[in-house]
Amino acid sequence: MNAEYGKVYLVGAGPGDPELLTRKAVKILRMAEVVLYDDLVSSKILKLCRKKTELIYVGKRLGQHSCQQIDLNQKIADAALQYKTVIRLKGGDPSIFGRVGEEVEFLLNLGIECEIVAGITTASGAVASLGFPLTHREYSKEILYVTGHGKNGKNSQSFKNLSCEGKTLVVYMGLNSLKEIVDDLVESGNPESLPVGIVENATLAHQRIVTGNLGNIRVVAEKSEVSSPALLIIGDIIDYYLKMDSLRALIHRPYTFS
Ligand code: SAH
Repeated sequence: MNAEYGKVYLVGAGPGDPELLTRKAVKILRMAEVVLYDDLVSSKILKLCRKKTELIYVGKRLGQHSCQQIDLNQKIADAALQYKTVIRLKGGDPSIFGRVGEEVEFLLNLGIECEIVAGITTASGAVASLGFPLTHREYSKEILYVTGHGKNGKNSQSFKNLSCEGKTLVVYMGLNSLKEIVDDLVESGNPESLPVGIVENATLAHQRIVTGNLGNIRVVAEKSEVSSPALLIIGDIIDYYLKMDSLRALIHRPYTFS
């Protein structure tokens, strides 16, 4: 390792709720001299850093993110030249659709020591906070994590020839391609009645889920004005969620005299 450089921690910030940070992430956040953070990292999490920590926003709003990764890699390396403890803070788990591989490779090529710190991915955080699982022996025995956003902004090919039977399909970055995803899944032979849930702002105070099926989810999403960040969850597990949700509603119904 190159002694001129500090160490870079590539840390998962979880889906939003600061309570879902790992203890390791909190420990490192408190040590950090500089934090380079993404769009989906909540301000409550950044507040855990010391006052003197330099916070650098490197999210997509800075520009065309497809051509920006190389500049970002360089920014992290520059920070490591200046500081001993650098955090690259990413939403969810850095290992899931987080480009952590590209960053690690760039840093290691320069001889910079780096360590990945796992986070809770949005899918796990979202379903837990809504009270249902990703797998269930009677509803779903497999989970498929897919991105709706392919490289260079093209739609992902992952939905072609894909049967969702017995599976939970979780789509990250899928809201903008909802139409194409639904069309591909129907074309692949999935029934229009296949349940779909869209979880908006998972684990945050303003979390919301809207549900429908392949046949109507676009209309439902438009009517309910669903916006980013949002995660698509497709499969029979959404039926299970609805079943549990109605049981919960009974428990929470205020007591009335008959
Ligand atoms: N590494 C992240 C995913 C990065 S891709 C993880 O493990 O969760 C970014 C996508 O994640 C968003 O487009 C959205 O689909 C999803 N996402 C992230 N945070 C979210 C949140 N709080 N609520 C809903 N979806 C979220």
